[in-house]
Amino acid sequence: MRVVVTFLCCICFSTLCGQTNSSFKPFPRDSAELYKFDLYKNYFINDGEEYKQRTELTTAFTKLEKKFNEAVKSRGKNVYHLIYEYDSLNRKIGKHSAYLGMFAYIDLANPVYYMKMDTFNRQISPVLNRINETIASLAPSSISRNSKTDRPGPDYSFFYSQLQNNPLRKLSENERRIVNDVTPNLINWQARLFQTTVRTTEYKPVKTGNKVLSIPANMNEILNHPDREVRKQGFLNGLEGMTSRREIFATLLLETIGNRNKAAALAGFKDYPEQSYSQRFLTRADVNTLLGMLKDSASINKRYENAMFENFKKIGGIDTVFAWDRFMPDPNAPTPRFTITEATNIILEATKPLGNDYRVEMSKLLDPKNGRLDMVNRPNRILRPGFSSGSVGYNSVFYQGNYEGYMSDVIIFGHEAGHAVQNMLMDKNGVSSFYALGASYFTESFAGFNELLITDYLYQKATTKELKKYYLSQFLEQAMGVFGNGMDATYEQTLYDSIPAGRINTADQFESQMQKTGAQFSIWYQPYMKYEMQWVNKMQFVTNPLYRINYVYSKLLALYYFSLYQQDSRSFIQKYNDLLRNGYDREPDNILKQFLNISITDKKLIDLSLALINKKIGEYEALIK
Ligand SMILES: [Zn+2]
Repeated sequence: MRVVVTFLCCICFSTLCGQTNSSFKPFPRDSAELYKFDLYKNYFINDGEEYKQRTELTTAFTKLEKKFNEAVKSRGKNVYHLIYEYDSLNRKIGKHSAYLGMFAYIDLANPVYYMKMDTFNRQISPVLNRINETIASLAPSSISRNSKTDRPGPDYSFFYSQLQNNPLRKLSENERRIVNDVTPNLINWQARLFQTTVRTTEYKPVKTGNKVLSIPANMNEILNHPDREVRKQGFLNGLEGMTSRREIFATLLLETIGNRNKAAALAGFKDYPEQSYSQRFLTRADVNTLLGMLKDSASINKRYENAMFENFKKIGGIDTVFAWDRFMPDPNAPTPRFTITEATNIILEATKPLGNDYRVEMSKLLDPKNGRLDMVNRPNRILRPGFSSGSVGYNSVFYQGNYEGYMSDVIIFGHEAGHAVQNMLMDKNGVSSFYALGASYFTESFAGFNELLITDYLYQKATTKELKKYYLSQFLEQAMGVFGNGMDATYEQTLYDSIPAGRINTADQFESQMQKTGAQFSIWYQPYMKYEMQWVNKMQFVTNPLYRINYVYSKLLALYYFSLYQQDSRSFIQKYNDLLRNGYDREPDNILKQFLNISITDKKLIDLSLALINKKIGEYEALIK
């Protein structure tokens, strides 16, 4: 079924970076004021106008439902024109959601916009569900376009087949109602309790000179601190705090997996992995094959980690690397920071090779005068690193929790801008609202490609060895996510296999399995290292289960795009733009085959990506010598 609100993304950064340089101003010359949304300019001139149009939209949907019902009564009648009308109305929903949602996010203290959004959802969702059920019940011949009588428009057969394949259709109306009522109670509470537990966990602070650093508020400063003792204390205090809630976290993870499986079974699936993967047109076998291949290639990840260890030993003057050295700053090279103007130029220049259409949309988004950016920290804004809101039918906007000018901030900016630009390219191309959202890994791959372009652009332009090393490591951090996320996805899959079989039930067993899976992929997992509680640190295991596999596929695709781009940029750019503006009107694999001649399960995808990674690790090894 359609989701009314379309907010993309979700980047997880475990750290934000380097030392604080108090004289640095991320928004120079008082430009911060410009980096706040102008939602009146982009969406509706005021609340009254938004309400008026929302009411008209709700009425129009109700009228449309009647037309569908009448068409069903007169059997055999073609309803293409009604689906077209449905599509046109559906395009308008996102604009209201974006207006209400963004006002809610920039002022959490004001509940009015959340309430309006909730009311809108409750009004509109049942109508959409009923219309979808009606369409699914029609004969295939009634949804196809008649070239003589219908106006030109999209082919709705993929949309129709998705509605038809909804497993809930096999249930009676009463059963469907029960499943819809029960499912939220089964699966929604764990994430809320997890977040509350995280928020209320107490940690011992860390003293450094006259300063007291708290966890988690100053965790980035602690982990990136030049004084090794500060890093060590911070890491150990963090571990101690998390360990104090270990049993609660274990229960939450057990309940997440158990109840997700129950909810999936109610919806007609074998278990949650089957349900979750099938929503992305993947099978358990596809996922297991890919994860197996990554495990077999884990020596590549360990090679990079060994190079990192060598670098830490050299710059830090240490014999043994510990977990608290992971974000050790280089004393010989201050961590680069970028003002918003610099970051904007970097993103524009790095994505310039993608061509004029891309550049036009990127420039419009990044021009603060257009009011589509909100990047300045202020009270009552939602605490999220960054996300974009968009679909087709309205302007995409970008939100960043707190732009401080670190490399990771620039990467979030470029990543989310990539989502926003893709939406605008689809919009310009007249993509149906039913085809504006695709499998998450597919959408994420376009944003992931921007991460590679940006870090590579800075690497190529860097003039000192230290900077080259820094930017190449940033490129590799993005690329090696294939393995990091592969490890997490393998662990999660192991849990979904082991818990129902009764092999994992306790916090100790969660930890020992994490150490075992971790050691297969990474050298951070060694007994002396105390790299523990990672099964809690990866909060998506509870808040967004089985999501990590998306990053494995998206990073592989992004690396594949990067390889093609380097081989023959001209031919690639044309196809890539066509792919971006196409939308998701078929299964991802069919789209990939048409535009890039690759299947998501093709071994070439992994071979080319790993060859690129190996080459870049070679460059990194040469730089740290
Ligand atoms: Zn994203």
